Parts: sequence; C-alpha cells; structure tokens
Amino acid sequence: MHYLPKKVIFCKLCVQSNQRPGPSPEHLKKNKSVPTIGFKEGICDACRYYSEIKSKINWKLREKKLKKLCDKYRDKNALYDVIVPGSGGKDSIYVSQLLKNKYKMKVLSVTWAPHLYTDIGWKNFQSWCKTGIDNILVTPNYKVHSKLTSLAFKNLVNPFQPFIMGQKVCAPKIALKYGVKLIFYGENNSEARGHYKENLSPIMDIKHYTRKNNKTKLFYGGVSLKDLKNKHGITNRDLEIYMPPLEQQIRKRGVEVHFMSYYKKWSPQENYYFAKKNSGFQTNIGGRSEGTYSKFSSLDDKIDGQHYYTMFIKFGQGRAMNDACRDIRDGFISRDEALLLMKKYDGEFPKKYFSEFLKYIDIDEEKYWKIIDKVRPKHLWGKKNGKWFLKHKVWQQK
Ligand SMILES: [Zn+2]
Repeated sequence: MHYLPKKVIFCKLCVQSNQRPGPSPEHLKKNKSVPTIGFKEGICDACRYYSEIKSKINWKLREKKLKKLCDKYRDKNALYDVIVPGSGGKDSIYVSQLLKNKYKMKVLSVTWAPHLYTDIGWKNFQSWCKTGIDNILVTPNYKVHSKLTSLAFKNLVNPFQPFIMGQKVCAPKIALKYGVKLIFYGENNSEARGHYKENLSPIMDIKHYTRKNNKTKLFYGGVSLKDLKNKHGITNRDLEIYMPPLEQQIRKRGVEVHFMSYYKKWSPQENYYFAKKNSGFQTNIGGRSEGTYSKFSSLDDKIDGQHYYTMFIKFGQGRAMNDACRDIRDGFISRDEALLLMKKYDGEFPKKYFSEFLKYIDIDEEKYWKIIDKVRPKHLWGKKNGKWFLKHKVWQQK
C-alpha cells in the first residue's frame, strides 16, 4: 500500500521511527522529490531541525518580522485582516488571541467541523468563540462526508483523509469570499515530521491547498471523480466543498498562508498553559486520550482515535510515540520516560467511540478487522498463537 523502508530504525534522540510513507526509490529517481521523513546518522530530520536550526533562531528578530507582517495586512477598512483556521483547541486559541490582543488584528476564525464532535470538543469550540472572535463553522453534507470517510477507510485505511481534504481548502476559499489576504496556521507540520527544508519558510507551499487547473486529477477516499459519480452517486456538486481553489486565483488575489511556528517558538505544552489561562479550554474528560498519555491534543473528533490507531497498524507508530517525540524535543520528558510511556500506551485500541465510528462508516466489526489486518506490513507485524505483535519495538532496542 505504501512504500516503507524495510529496515526499521528509531531516532537516537527522540523515538521517531523511519516508517513514514514516502515515495519509492524508483519514484524518487523519476521525480526527484524527497521522502516524508529523513534520517542522517541515526537522527531524524525533526531532531536535526531542532538542534541545527530551531535552537539557533533569533526569536526577537522573528517577532519583528511578525509585527511587520501584521502591519502590512492590518487594514482599517477591511472587515477582517486575518483568518485563523482551527477547532478551538489549544493551538488555535493561542494564535487567534495573540493576533487579536497583541497585534490588534481583526480575526475571523474558520472551523471545518467534525460530524462526530466529542462533548469536550464542542465545549472547547464554544469557549474559543467566547474569546471575542467571529467564527464560521463549515459542516460538510453528512451523507457525502460519511460515504467518503467509509471509502477512505476501506480503500486507504485512512478514515481522516476526506476530513483533511476539506479542512485544508476551507480557509483559503473563505479568504477568497471575504477578500482576506492573510491566513495564519499554528504549527508547520514539517517541524515535527520531516521535510526539513520546508521549515525554513514562513509560508505554506501553495501546492498544498490549490489545484493547477480544471484538469487536475482529484481522488477522494481513493476514488476518482468519475467513479464517485458512476459507482457511488456522488456528484461534482456534492464535492464542491472539498475542491481546492485554482492556484492562479489565489496568486491573483494575493492570499498567503503563514505558520505561527515560524515567528514564535512553538510548543504544544506551552500553548496548553496559555489556553487554560486565557479561555475556558478544558482537557479530556476522564484524563488521557486512548493510545497515549497526553490529555490536551486532538480532542474534538470521535474519529481521532481511529486516525492514530490506523497509523499504528500501517506504520507501527502509535499515538504515544507521536506525542513523545515532540515532548522529548521540547524538553518535557526524557527519552527513557518516553520508552516507558510508549510501552504502556502505544497501540491501545480506541474503544470509547468504536461503535459510533462503525455506524458512521456503515460497516460491521468483522469487516473492520478484515480491513485492518490486511494492511499490516509483513516487515512490521508478526502473528503468534493467533495474536498480532509488533516485530520492532523501540523500548526493546539497546
Ligand atoms: Zn528524532
């Protein structure tokens, strides 16, 4: 399904493994693109970015750049100066409050809504709105989105794919509608997950949220537009809300997408303290999230647990590993502590919302496990006495 390196290695500094999907060596020869996560002398790209670049950044200088950027886009005649996309989690609260209160920007927040909101997710979203910003909540068509989610689970074992596809184009399209030119995300994902070089720019590459022209081939849930129409009854009109805007349109209107993690030293833990102090933000009811030790990340969607669990199956990387890599680099836990936490929580099945998830994607439990077991890569998973086990565990490495 994905190209994964057959030799499993774990970063010596954090606990990241090299099992992230990337283009195959043959593909690389033809296309010259880079794999999603790189390793050099046993150290992952994210750790290299931290030690070689992030630790040497002059944050005062970066803040001056932020001020200059805000001065450029602040417009007393405009209804809004900036769009902050987000769910009302700790990161979006931090970014929107910073822009509103410190830089006096008129903020419009935009939320691509999950269909299966958790109680805590909905409460936090409401608390975010109460911090004094306008919000546009975009909820996709239930029938279409649940169908696409089901197809994405069956074809890609990635139930989150349609959500991400809608989410990433939502803010740029609203920016075009409202004539807003600046969009501010929190973290550049590359900071934690490879693409070393993409951290060097404050701006998100336009290719991530636009299409070149009307002929650009698009797949939703792993299915082409033609097959969606002919086999699943989903029309182009149904998909309009997921369609990326045209690149030339975005360039013509001068819309830019920036990352706050370029301008401010980014730390999810610090953002959590900020959100707790400055809004009604609450952590997970009943403590930590399933599959990890943390209690303040990805709380709003009942599908979140399945997103992390399917990653654990496909790449052997659990939710605890995901959190631990970050916390080690930010100095909140040691590598030894991370190993203990991963041993305890990685791969824990997200059972809390499992039946709701199955109902949402309209499949039964037996089919679910058939799909899951089919995609376990042979070099990562073994079976003993009818039980699956991970062949390479970072906490067992010397
Ligand atoms: Zn690392």
